[in-house]
Amino acid sequence: MIAKKRILMSVPHMGGQEEAFVKEAFTTNWLSTVGPNIDAFEAEFSQIIGLPSVALGSGTAAMHLGLRLLGVGPGDEVLAPTLTFIASVNPVAWLGARTTFIDSERTSWNLDPQRLADTLKARAKVGKLPRAVIVVHLYGQSADLDPIFEACDAYDVPVLEDAAEALGTLYKGQSVGARAPVSAFSFNGNKIITTTGGGMLVAKNPEWVNKARFWSTQARDPGIAYEHTEAGYNYRLSNVLAGIGRGQLLVLGDRVRRRREVAFTYRDALADIPALSLMPQASFGQHTNWLSVMLVDPNKGAVDRDGLIRALDAANIESRPVWKPMHLQPLFKDAECVGGEVAEDLFRRGICLPSSSNLAAEDQAFVIATIRRAFGA
Ligand SMILES: *Cc1c(COP(=O)(O)O)cnc(C)c1O
Repeated sequence: MIAKKRILMSVPHMGGQEEAFVKEAFTTNWLSTVGPNIDAFEAEFSQIIGLPSVALGSGTAAMHLGLRLLGVGPGDEVLAPTLTFIASVNPVAWLGARTTFIDSERTSWNLDPQRLADTLKARAKVGKLPRAVIVVHLYGQSADLDPIFEACDAYDVPVLEDAAEALGTLYKGQSVGARAPVSAFSFNGNKIITTTGGGMLVAKNPEWVNKARFWSTQARDPGIAYEHTEAGYNYRLSNVLAGIGRGQLLVLGDRVRRRREVAFTYRDALADIPALSLMPQASFGQHTNWLSVMLVDPNKGAVDRDGLIRALDAANIESRPVWKPMHLQPLFKDAECVGGEVAEDLFRRGICLPSSSNLAAEDQAFVIATIRRAFGA
């Protein structure tokens, strides 16, 4: 059997109010990067995270400005997990710095606190501490923040949380992205909520948010002339897209509930297949399961991960491997990596299944039936 319409991995899911906010932007002619939607979107987002925020054109832009706020510059070293999407670390290179990659731990698949602590200790010994540490909350699961912050605080190295995949994710009851001095979120089309494309930078220091807003709008100095002391960017979100974001924030809680439900439906319906297991749900947080990710054990079943992707594709179902670790990327062939075996194993065996919050029950049932058939179950 083949799905008539391709079942995709993660697609936008509008709540219903978005068009009204967008229409208001048209009616009032606020069709640029200033206007009531953008102000309200930032204020409403700040309510959720508890920190001042600035709306940007992408999560990548938020990472770039966040690293610049932390003073990352030429010659600096930044530590980051190897298991992530490349947008976490590309901006490090744009600032003239280099990334050293660190392996994942198996409880959350995120940055390994022990390897991080060991690396910081070794760097301190030779008097060359990194400028910053990037922590990523992958697939909607929080990294283990207590030991990570403990290690970084011991050496006064600041943390940047890449929460692009983790809006709605909690660590010990608190929103991720609320603990570091500066954090980044994404509203790309595949994320848990979307503005078609967009991002948010949040920071504890309101002056940092103002600085990021200034840089995001070409860093024009006060006064009527086009005078510039610092280099800026064209990184601001449009007031039209901020309207979509306002509508999406209204349904965020619902989207988190539904993504979790989709993941647990896979887990329960495939529980009798020994080769398959859902990504762990670390007890220290609430995993949104932005994507439903499973591990395939090639020794226990009829197909391996790539075989499963092919079987799904043949049935017109989209699935993808887990992120390819950064230390395996040609782009970073000269970078140092501390460990890497865990990330490589998760990359080889991990599969991201259709996970949209608007995934129809019969479509998910079809995905499950296709997986069962591939395993002869
Ligand atoms: C999506 C994503 C980003 C970048 O966000 P964009 O809005 O697409 O620029 C950064 N980091 C991670 C981990 C992501 O998944």
